[in-house]
Amino acid sequence: MKTFSQSKISFDPIHFLALASILFLLNSSIVTAQNDPIKLKYLGTAGWQISDGQISVLIDPYISRVKLGTGPGISPDDNRQTVKRSDYFVSDTVSIDSLVQKTDFILVHHSHFDHLSDVPYIAKKTGAKVIGTETTCNILRAYGIPNEQLYPVKGGEDYQFENFAVKVIPSIHSALNDKHYLDSRTYTEVPEAPLRVSEFIEGGSLMFLARFTKHEVLTMGSMNFVERELVGLQPDILLAGVNRSQLGLYKYNERLLAVTNNPKWIIPTHWDNFRLPYGFSQQDAVEQKLLPFVEDVIKLSPKTKVLIPKHLGILTID
Ligand SMILES: [Zn+2]
Repeated sequence: MKTFSQSKISFDPIHFLALASILFLLNSSIVTAQNDPIKLKYLGTAGWQISDGQISVLIDPYISRVKLGTGPGISPDDNRQTVKRSDYFVSDTVSIDSLVQKTDFILVHHSHFDHLSDVPYIAKKTGAKVIGTETTCNILRAYGIPNEQLYPVKGGEDYQFENFAVKVIPSIHSALNDKHYLDSRTYTEVPEAPLRVSEFIEGGSLMFLARFTKHEVLTMGSMNFVERELVGLQPDILLAGVNRSQLGLYKYNERLLAVTNNPKWIIPTHWDNFRLPYGFSQQDAVEQKLLPFVEDVIKLSPKTKVLIPKHLGILTID
């Protein structure tokens, strides 16, 4: 059997040339990656499509934006059919097809319908790898997504993939229902598909530190976090969960900025009214959720740049 010592490779001209061309290839791909800025396209709700020329990642892609219920949050100009929580969820595949072509990964923060319900269709269509909780993975299995595509996690994992690494962070859900919300149900087995809107249960909550070639993006899918889980992280981009009046949490904005080390860029997420279709005015959400948060960040962390996302708009960061 042939074995190569380090000195033999260095002095053998054929191996030297092979090594030199490999180094050149590696080097040229690194140069390409460093020249590509990161692009973040806001899909509404907690949904993002992030790419850096190397890798394309979807976060909580919820594109269907169904007209759920009646009353506040519904526009009289929205003439789509009303959906009830007891109805089976049906994805708007025409809208999804117009927005999503290729994606390598889908990261899912939790399994509520406004985070997960479009993922079965997108995962099937793109073959993307999905990282999410056991509940998220069991729901996707129900829709026929094969195990090879699924990475079930609980928080604490730190996975290296090609051109991309993801740290999974244990988290908690927004303090809904005036702090009376807690849903500890999970799917430990595969449920029956299709699911009703109400059957997309939370199933535990996560955050992600998505490490791209040039940027570390800390993602949130709720307006809450476990402080000690974020200690020591140095994200340069934070997708910050935003809601009305900090939802009764103790110094939410202040604690979030301090524990994440005042990130260079903050982009508010999950602030819009997701019952309205794209193109409808989000004026109420802008005034009641987005602007108060932005004003607070400017006061608390003057060096941070706050980028305001628009539906389907792309934010580019070098
Ligand atoms: Zn939720």
